[in-house]
Amino acid sequence: MSDTMHSGSCLCGTVRFKTRGPLRGVIYCHCSQCRRQSGHHYASTNVPDDRLEVEGDDNVAWFASSDDAQRGFCKTCGSVLFWKHRKLDYTSINAGAFDNPTGLHGAMHIFVADKGDYYEITDGLPKHERSASGIVVAGD
Ligand SMILES: [Zn+2]
Ligand SMILES: [Zn+2]
Repeated sequence: MSDTMHSGSCLCGTVRFKTRGPLRGVIYCHCSQCRRQSGHHYASTNVPDDRLEVEGDDNVAWFASSDDAQRGFCKTCGSVLFWKHRKLDYTSINAGAFDNPTGLHGAMHIFVADKGDYYEITDGLPKHERSASGIVVAGD
C-alpha cells in the first residue's frame, strides 16, 4: 500500500484536508443534484474515512441531499468539498479542491442521462446512463 499523501483546501483556506494512500479515479457525475450544487458537473475521488484528516471541519456545513447522502461545503466561501453516504465509511472529495500535482486521472462519467444540455462529453472515458456497478452515488 502506497503512503502517498495528498492535500487540498476550500477557496478561503478555512477547511484543509489531507489524504493518505491511493485515491480512486475521478468520477464525473452529471446528475441534477451534482450539477446544481457544483455549478457544472461533479468531479470527485474518494478515500476511506480513516485515511482522511480534515482541519477546520467545524466550518463544513452538511446538506442532506437525500435520505442516504449528505454534501459538505465550506460555510464561509461555499466551496463544494465532500459527499458522504451515511452508511459507508468513505468520503468523496471534490477533485478541484486538491493541490497540484493531484496525481488524479479521470475514470468515468455517470448519470449522463441527466447531464446538462449545454455541453458534450468528448473525452472518450466510459459513460454510464445512471450509476455504475461497484460505486455508490447520490442518485434518486
Ligand atoms: Zn472556505
Ligand atoms: Zn451526482
